[in-house]
Amino acid sequence: MSDVLALSAAQAAKAVLAGELDAGELFELYRARAAADVLNAFVWVADPREAGRAPASVVGPLGGVPLAVKDLFCTEGVPSQSGSRILEGYRPPYSATVVERLTAAGAPLLGKTNQDEFAMGSSTENSGYGPVLNPWDHGRVPGGSSGGSAAAVAARLAPWALGTDTGGSIRQPAALCGIVGLKPTYGAVSRYGMIAFASSLDQAGPLTRDVTDAALLYGQMVGARDPRDSTSLEFPGRIELPTRTDLRGLRFGVPAELSGEGIEPGVLAAFEATIELLRTLGASVEPCALPHAPHALAAYYVLAPAEASSNLARFDGVRYGYRASGADDLMAMYTRTRHDGFGAEVKRRIMLGTYALSSGYYDAYYGRAQRVRTKIAEDFAAAFERFDFIATPTAPGVAFELGAKTADPLAMYLNDFCTVPMSLAGIPAISIPCGLAEPPGGGRPLPVGFQLAGPAFSENALLAASFALEQALGFDGDALPVGE
Ligand code: GLN
Repeated sequence: MSDVLALSAAQAAKAVLAGELDAGELFELYRARAAADVLNAFVWVADPREAGRAPASVVGPLGGVPLAVKDLFCTEGVPSQSGSRILEGYRPPYSATVVERLTAAGAPLLGKTNQDEFAMGSSTENSGYGPVLNPWDHGRVPGGSSGGSAAAVAARLAPWALGTDTGGSIRQPAALCGIVGLKPTYGAVSRYGMIAFASSLDQAGPLTRDVTDAALLYGQMVGARDPRDSTSLEFPGRIELPTRTDLRGLRFGVPAELSGEGIEPGVLAAFEATIELLRTLGASVEPCALPHAPHALAAYYVLAPAEASSNLARFDGVRYGYRASGADDLMAMYTRTRHDGFGAEVKRRIMLGTYALSSGYYDAYYGRAQRVRTKIAEDFAAAFERFDFIATPTAPGVAFELGAKTADPLAMYLNDFCTVPMSLAGIPAISIPCGLAEPPGGGRPLPVGFQLAGPAFSENALLAASFALEQALGFDGDALPVGE
């Protein structure tokens, strides 16, 4: 079966649709691998013997290629806990719109993947269900918060996966695991049925082995606007499978603010080599200014916790999931449920967010952060008058050791330095693997991610440019041994 494992999701779909590969066998191959997962990437794996869960006889453009789905998405009758103990045992009565669309397009649910609790984190160490290990080095993190999805795809426990990105949670784990991750334009994908973290930022997107797989999966995630998500938008046109092989005539801007200070030397070297490659492929590359980008992280860590503190108020022990026992009155039940059910990082965010929104501080924190957000969006708008794309490293470093940053929230937050500006501006951005770099202190070379961002709804152009770059880079995911 190793030849089947070597197929990308798009190749596997094509083989199934051509009658050369059996969808049931494909499902069973991956199901067995996911069930034997040693990375803790999965929190639940489909069992075809369970009634109604047999991979349906598939028709549809996704060819029956099974999909791993981040725990945060509601999946009907299947545990959906967003990595939190407070949602232990919660099986929603409905599925997220995007899960419904992908299932209908022929991608059956393979399993639910581990994540940082409520998507708050950059290492998946904040999961209530234990950390995920990086398949390149089991002593290191896979990134987060979609770490389970990224590790599963990199280790070929899943052909492709769904993640979410609020400030970098698709792009950063994709970078740290050596795969492709796309954060869509805000609004392009329905958020209906996603367990909310920060609603003005959350977006679902694909984590895949290559750019073509990302385009194929993403193409089925967008389309008509979803009336059940008031912020969802109709995608103009369709997503095309990329074929572009050069970058002639395209203008890339490189913001010094996001590609210098604080970036590990190995990451910077791989980034700069990739910039040279852009030129070789015919692109022009010039410095560009994003003067407010260095303030993005501070603004994000006010805005995202503010929204989270409101969104997470619903977890009170009354409606779903965990309820503390033994409380004498309602207030004690609320307090104990939230005390026991939430992990330390989630509590920190609720406190930060509540403080930022409190009367007397609202203007100084929340209002100010909103104004910074506007400035950042204006910076990008100005840059896109001169450039087609902005290029940065995806993450400031390669995968770090488990436990290295858990005691220092600020060190953990700095992982999002290069990804948060695009989130605040609501624009699409993709991370593709651009090489390997030795971690500081030495060790096995680890993947480096290259981030490209474009204007709202430029996904087709982003995917096309990424495809051309990917072909030229020839990054070898097979450097990672994945077994038979
Ligand atoms: N790491 C960031 C955070 O902790 C982003 C998480 C995300 O994108 N969901 O908030």
